[in-house]
Amino acid sequence: MPSEHLLNKTARSDYMSLDIGSVCQAMYIWIDGSGQTLRVKTKTLDQEPESIEDLPEWNFDGSSTGQAEGSNSDCYLKPVAMFRDPFRGDPNKLIMCEVLNYKHEAVATNHRHSCVRVMEEAKSERPWFGIEQEYTLLDVDKHPFGWPKLGYPGPQGPYYCGVGTGRIYGRDIVEAHYRACIFAGVKIAGTNAEVMPAQWEYQVGPCEGIEMGDHLWVSRFLLHRVCEDFGVIATFDPKPMPGDWNGAGCHTNYSTEEMRKAGGLSAINKAVEKLSKRHFWHIKQYDPTGGKDNARRLTGLHETASIYDFSSGVANRGASIRIPRHVGEQKCGYMEDRRPSSNCDPYVVTEALVRTTILNETGDVENFSV
Ligand code: ADP
Ligand code: MN
Ligand code: MN
Ligand code: MN
Repeated sequence: MPSEHLLNKTARSDYMSLDIGSVCQAMYIWIDGSGQTLRVKTKTLDQEPESIEDLPEWNFDGSSTGQAEGSNSDCYLKPVAMFRDPFRGDPNKLIMCEVLNYKHEAVATNHRHSCVRVMEEAKSERPWFGIEQEYTLLDVDKHPFGWPKLGYPGPQGPYYCGVGTGRIYGRDIVEAHYRACIFAGVKIAGTNAEVMPAQWEYQVGPCEGIEMGDHLWVSRFLLHRVCEDFGVIATFDPKPMPGDWNGAGCHTNYSTEEMRKAGGLSAINKAVEKLSKRHFWHIKQYDPTGGKDNARRLTGLHETASIYDFSSGVANRGASIRIPRHVGEQKCGYMEDRRPSSNCDPYVVTEALVRTTILNETGDVENFSV
C-alpha cells in the first residue's frame, strides 16, 4: 500500500525551509501517452526565469511513458506556460510543456499543438471558456473516501454543497487545492461539494483561447499533488460508482465576444444550432476513449442527457447544452456544454467548440455506437 503520506511532514518542512540562494527549481509537467495522466520532473535553473522564453527545452524517456519506441526513445519537452510552485514556494516554478518526438513533431497525445493553431485562427472572436472540473476522492484501496468499507452511505440528497460531518468527505483536500491554485496563478473561480458523497467540483475560468487547457491541466496536477500529502487519490473517472450515484463531468461554459454583448442570445442560439448538427463528432472529442467512458455517465439520468441525443434548453440540467437562466433573461452571456467527461482533454474540447461554432466546420460521425 502506498504510504507516501505517512512520511514525517515536520521533518520535511525543515528541509523545505533551507535557503537555496539564487537558483530556481523548475518542475516540468506533461501529459503522458495515456492522454490522461501527468508526469513531472525537475530541473535546477541558475536563476529565476522571467518569462516562458527563459525556460530551456528538455527531454525525457518516451519509452517509459507510452510515447516512443525503446530504440528511439528521447522525446522533447517544450515549455509553454509558467506558474508559481505552491509546494516548493517562490521563486520555484511549475512549467506546463508540450511533448514533441525526436523529429520535433507533436506526439499523439499532444493535443495542445493543434489547439493553439485553431485558437490563433479564431482569436478575433475572443473565445472564452470556464470549465467545471468534477472529481471523486478515493481511499488508497480505491474505495470512495470516507464511505463505509462494507455497504454504502445514505442516498444522495444532503451532500451537494453540504456542510457538517457525515455530509462532507475530504474538505481538507479541497481547501488545500484551492489555495494552491490561487498561489500558482491558476484562474480557479470557485469550488463546491457535489451530489455524490466524496465527489467535488472546482471551476477554472473564464480563460481565453489556449489558456483554458493550460490552466485546467495544471489545476489537475495540483490536485494530484495535494492528494499525495493526504494519502488520498483523486479520480477523474466519469462514473466511479455504478448505480444510483451521480457521475462526474467537465461542463464547459463557452462564449464569444458577440455572445457576451447585448443581444448575444441570438449568436448563442446560432452556435447551438451548429452544435446540434454534429453531436456525435463532439461526443468523440469529449473523452479520451471516443465516447466509451462517457457512455457510462451520459445515461439520461442523474442530470445528464443520453449520449445518443442532442438537446438544449434554458436552465435545463438534463440537456446536452444548457443556457443558464440568467443568460436567457439578460439575452446575452454564454452557453454550457454539459457533455464533456471529467477525464476529457480540455485542449480537445475547446478546439472542438471553436471548430464547429467559429470556423464553421461541419460533418458528423455516421452510425455512432459505443
Ligand atoms: P453551474 O451553475 O453549471 O454549476 P458554475 O458556477 O459551476 O456553473 O460554473 C460556471 C463557469 O462559467 C465558471 O467557471 C465561470 O468562470 C464560467 N463563465 C462565466 N462567464 C463566462 C463566459 N462569459 N464565457 C465562458 N465562461 C464563463
Ligand atoms: Mn458547477
Ligand atoms: Mn457540478
Ligand atoms: Mn454546470
